[in-house]
Amino acid sequence: MLSNSLPKDAALRTRALQVIPGGMYGHLNVARLPAGYPQFFARAEGATLWDVDGNAYVDFMCAYGPMILGYGNREVEEAAAAQRALGDVLTGPSERLVELAEKLVGMVAHADWALFQRNGTDATTLCVVIARAATKKRKILVASGAYHGSAPWCSPNPIGSTAEDRAHLVHYDYNDVESLLAAAKSVEGDVAGVIASAFKHDYGKDQEMPTKAFAQAVRKLCDDTGAALILDDVRAGFRLDLGGSWQTVGVKPDLAAYSKAIANGYTLGAVTGCDKFREAATTVFMTGSFWCGAASMAAALKTLEIFQRDNTIARIETLGNRLRNGLAAQAKSHGMVLKQTGPAQMPTVLFADDPEVEKGRLFTQEALRGGAWLHPQHNMFLSSAHTEADIDKALQATDAAMAVVKKSFGRD
Ligand code: PMP
Repeated sequence: MLSNSLPKDAALRTRALQVIPGGMYGHLNVARLPAGYPQFFARAEGATLWDVDGNAYVDFMCAYGPMILGYGNREVEEAAAAQRALGDVLTGPSERLVELAEKLVGMVAHADWALFQRNGTDATTLCVVIARAATKKRKILVASGAYHGSAPWCSPNPIGSTAEDRAHLVHYDYNDVESLLAAAKSVEGDVAGVIASAFKHDYGKDQEMPTKAFAQAVRKLCDDTGAALILDDVRAGFRLDLGGSWQTVGVKPDLAAYSKAIANGYTLGAVTGCDKFREAATTVFMTGSFWCGAASMAAALKTLEIFQRDNTIARIETLGNRLRNGLAAQAKSHGMVLKQTGPAQMPTVLFADDPEVEKGRLFTQEALRGGAWLHPQHNMFLSSAHTEADIDKALQATDAAMAVVKKSFGRD
């Protein structure tokens, strides 16, 4: 059980407000979460986080996705440390660059080549640049409400960017073939690419897997027009299918963006591409001082090796289903209706009839008090480091939390 007050966290927030605009930025700012969520963490191990006040939580956010094999995974840490001892950021790349590209080309179904960056935004942005370079066209079709990063062309918050930054985006609705074709028609002759997330995982919404009809329609549109099919696999990559997330619907993208789970927490982004886009990828100027960091690449090589060796995805799915089934049984016994959407490895859990997320916020706030770090609106993440005991401990917290929601709101 947690104490309600977080004195060290509060003191750090006060200091942060002096030297960090807003105290914290982006998705890691807990201001939009219910009261009681700590902002600052002291350490982590396996699937457990400790805040600076010493409270432990079973973490169902996994650093918003990068953690997949457990915080401090011994094998990954040893691989990264061994590389760091040899050299990390150097005057040129290490052998790890070639090894990692070979590894991805062998693993990812559509990939004939790979390029590396630091973050997911680097990777999605580079895909768009390569698509435009290859096609000499301008328009990028993008699903309404989808998140592809924090750069001016795609940030969900337009403050600080210009209309011109987004002038060549055309919106369609995910899984809606008609809207996709209408978007393409509206800019006929000028489509450079279509970007689609692995599945619809928009903030605060029920998640939706891609339909085969939709994925095939995107493929056909790109084949007919020469546009690039860009799969944004930053969030879902390596949690659904090691060959790429649209292997689940039998469709190969031309370009795919990866980051998050690729190196179990080490900073790395990757773009994979097919031969048709190799020439364009050769011509665009792209670089970053830290893009060839060899320790991250060594961590990625070990992480990918473990995925293949241990059938990690199946393990994570089993754990996700344990959580999902437990929550479903609790909802039933408390007479509440829960909407659990998306793959079990990346669940979104929302209450029915909860437009202001009042039930969801109370539920997660109470669960946090019981030691389970859940998110009221964002999709969550399971890892292979969650144990059955972790899930069961979290389920105890959610059972108590659901009782409080029931008491406060009655039957939903
Ligand atoms: N695409 C998707 C689907 C994402 O979920 C994210 C990050 N949440 C990004 C791109 C951007 O990645 P990053 O935050 O590493 O720049």
